[in-house]
Amino acid sequence: MTAPLLDVQDLSVEFHTDGGVVHAVSHADMSVPESGILGLVGESGSGKSVTSLAVLGLLGTRRARITSGRILFRGEDLLQKSPAELRALRGRHIGLVSQNALSALDPSFTIGAQLVEVLRRHQRLDRRTARARALESLQLVALPDAERRLRAYPHELSGGQRQRVVIALALACRPELLLADEPTTALDATVQKQILDLLLSLNAELGTAILVVTHDFGVVSHLCRTVTVMRRGRVLEAGTTERVLTAPEHPYTQALVKAVPRLRLGADERAVPRQQRRLPEFTEVLTAVEG
Ligand code: ADP
Ligand code: MG
Repeated sequence: MTAPLLDVQDLSVEFHTDGGVVHAVSHADMSVPESGILGLVGESGSGKSVTSLAVLGLLGTRRARITSGRILFRGEDLLQKSPAELRALRGRHIGLVSQNALSALDPSFTIGAQLVEVLRRHQRLDRRTARARALESLQLVALPDAERRLRAYPHELSGGQRQRVVIALALACRPELLLADEPTTALDATVQKQILDLLLSLNAELGTAILVVTHDFGVVSHLCRTVTVMRRGRVLEAGTTERVLTAPEHPYTQALVKAVPRLRLGADERAVPRQQRRLPEFTEVLTAVEG
């Protein structure tokens, strides 16, 4: 058995706030295989984003304390790395796709300038080569008319196009792992599907592993091969997507899956509009289950 690309072991993260200690993540384990796609699912506040920020080494600024665990990336513990080492890793080996494409892009620079900047920050490239690689990146994410888009500013693009640019930026240096935190939540249904298909094709073409944070079982069933379910900072269940969606073991996961009945229809599932496969609110399910 080969070691996973990313292996989070026994991770605990707490925040010290004026209101007391918040146990955001408690002894969580999860792993992403080389070229795999893991879905990290759970209701709002379950510790998904805090886990992915820990992987990126971006918790330091947020009064967070990591009280246990290891985060092994290619066998090396990211928790032992210096801030400079983590900076070098981000973008180059671990790319980030955030939920809000607008906030990820700088409104005052062209798309081309932002791609060139990322490429030159991590790799010794002359301007001309960086420019050529920037164009390649836009072509990779199937942005039509890529040559012209290099000169465009973020506000000149649609929401879906901007999310493609954010993915192009994240993949510009060909990282081994992509962290995508709710990558399609801000997009309308048809564009969501296009972005998910793009992520699938990039995974197939480049072998980029993906850790996708989501509260949407539609995203999980479309994109992920394995799933880890979190609630209140703890991992409740993990397994292949097929097993978790068809034979969930934990009562909480069972309730979640039951709340999306069409997921169990297998082949018929594709005929069901995505909106109907999405959970309205995890908390509503909980109230129903826990009375
Ligand atoms: P999710 O992404 O699953 O919705 P988060 O990982 O963002 O949840 O948050 C997990 C828990 O940590 C929540 O209870 C949240 O309120 C808390 N939390 C996150 N960031 C901070 C912070 N900077 N200070 C205090 N508490 C935080
Ligand atoms: Mg979150």
